[in-house]
Amino acid sequence: MAKSEGSSSSARSSYKKKVDGPLCYCNKRSTPAKAWTDDNPGRRFWCCGSHGFVDWIDKQEQNECQKQSLLETRGVMDRQREEIRNLKQLLSTASQPATSEDSTALLLEEGDRLAEEKKKLEIALITSVEKEKLLRQFIALSMGGFAVVTVILVITILKK
Ligand SMILES: [Zn+2]
Repeated sequence: MAKSEGSSSSARSSYKKKVDGPLCYCNKRSTPAKAWTDDNPGRRFWCCGSHGFVDWIDKQEQNECQKQSLLETRGVMDRQREEIRNLKQLLSTASQPATSEDSTALLLEEGDRLAEEKKKLEIALITSVEKEKLLRQFIALSMGGFAVVTVILVITILKK
């Protein structure tokens, strides 16, 4: 039991570097691998590249308690892997150029709208200036007309 408890990742990687596994029946040298089956979660074994299982590295089978906790760990790892994948997907969609193009288009649209509004305001300003001019002309004309009428009236009165 104590032996399989000490199976850390560093122990596993040192296996990979230093230890050559036993030969498979096909005469290929096996490499260390880790089983993640329900029956043997986290149990290390020698693996042939072509034929799979050759022999156990961890000779002793785990007890139920260890299996349970290792299976739980496997579940957590699977969930985390899933989360990381989702996050990566989110990140890639967030940094896609299409999105920035969208926001640029929006900005351009907003700019166009503002330019349009400015134009309308300018037209309104010109119109009001134009109107004022017309009004002044009208007043001048009517004042002039009034003056003419007054002069004519005065002349006719004086003539009498
Ligand atoms: Zn083989």
